[in-house]
Amino acid sequence: MKTTQLTILGSTGSIGLSTLDVVARQPERFRVHALTAHRNVERMREQCLRHAPDVAVMVDADAADALRTALAASGSRTQVRAGSEALAEVARAPQVDAVMAAIVGGAGLLPTLAAAEAGKRVLLANKEALVMSGALLMDAVRRSGACLLPIDSEHNAIFQCLPNGYVCAEPVTPHGARRIWLTASGGPFRDRPLDSFAGITPDEACAHPNWEMGRKISVDSATMMNKGLEVIEACWLFAVPPATIQVVLHPQSIVHSMVAYDDGSVLAQLGNPDMRTPIAHALAWPERMESGVEPLDLLTMGRLEFSEPEAARFPALGLAYQALERGGTATAVLNAANEVAVEAFLAERLAFSEIPVVIAATLDAIEAEPVDSLERVLSADRKARAIAGEQVANARQVVS
Ligand code: NDP
Repeated sequence: MKTTQLTILGSTGSIGLSTLDVVARQPERFRVHALTAHRNVERMREQCLRHAPDVAVMVDADAADALRTALAASGSRTQVRAGSEALAEVARAPQVDAVMAAIVGGAGLLPTLAAAEAGKRVLLANKEALVMSGALLMDAVRRSGACLLPIDSEHNAIFQCLPNGYVCAEPVTPHGARRIWLTASGGPFRDRPLDSFAGITPDEACAHPNWEMGRKISVDSATMMNKGLEVIEACWLFAVPPATIQVVLHPQSIVHSMVAYDDGSVLAQLGNPDMRTPIAHALAWPERMESGVEPLDLLTMGRLEFSEPEAARFPALGLAYQALERGGTATAVLNAANEVAVEAFLAERLAFSEIPVVIAATLDAIEAEPVDSLERVLSADRKARAIAGEQVANARQVVS
């Protein structure tokens, strides 16, 4: 079997750690070419010593210097590079077969696009890249012949429930698929009284009942903007209109999503909530391999419940549908405003209940334009960050 050479963008994060865990179980099958991070030197040092990549990229230059010194002292042969341009270079390096795109937020867009343009197997966790510029990313995948495989557990589940041979980025609705049920746990505030939302703290928002994730996606899950981003992601990956997708609350996070067909069949993918399952699926596809995930025991699970999300509790979900309807750069604006608002909330500069308010005001302030170039997307992203920043500053005056 040919060894797959892998670049992991965002290796020090939650998805990066799970990916390395899966890969380490199959040393004959995978070799790590490059690992990348923003500035977590200590974790990157450990990863370099354990997985011996050819290259480690730290976006932050001081962090790169510190890593270089630490690795030299340990006799490591890993080459350390600095800066965001190096991310795209390790994503498109000729010896690389597969790229795990697991940087959080819009920072992942350019290296993910580079991997797609270079025709790699792209394992897409960085949903923000698709939300910002689905048209460009899908076009790059089609032109280069890249293989795009979803890592988000819901989209990976949908992919597994689609007819064999379905290719993401084909502009064709999967044959006979009538409805996609996108499941959502509802996060930590599913039952919390609405009048207490203004007092929610970052640690409360990051304490997800079922999944262990990075802080940004944990807050997105608490507001359900994560599900909104996933609706947009599903429209691009599976070439379906928004009306085909129905979000359903499923507190147990065991059914990861479902596809309903014309003949009345509904296919679902089930499993324990552990990201190593979709990661192993996409790494091995079309084969299967060991992931280290505990087998699912349905008998001890007992009940699987489903219900409709309350619009008043999760206004962020409605905003995502609004952005989809406006089309063009509106979803890039939504994403940027959300990133700014979540960062401000995590830094205790914005109340939890103000996150959707900032996003709605930013969406209203910027006219959607067609996504005909990367520059157009990046310009919408910059504009939205500036306006959302002003909104946060105004909201802060109200809060304090
Ligand atoms: P984490 O916050 O745990 O990790 C983020 C990674 O990105 C880290 O390696 C971080 O480096 C790096 N990073 C952060 N900012 C930058 C930047 N400006 N430039 C380059 N690298 C950067 O995130 P997650 O692993 O939770 O999520 C990653 C992506 O996967 C997100 O898009 C998320 O939506 C998606 N996803 C995550 C799931 C999960 O279970 N965690 C499930 C499904 C999707 P450093 O450590 O140095 O800061």
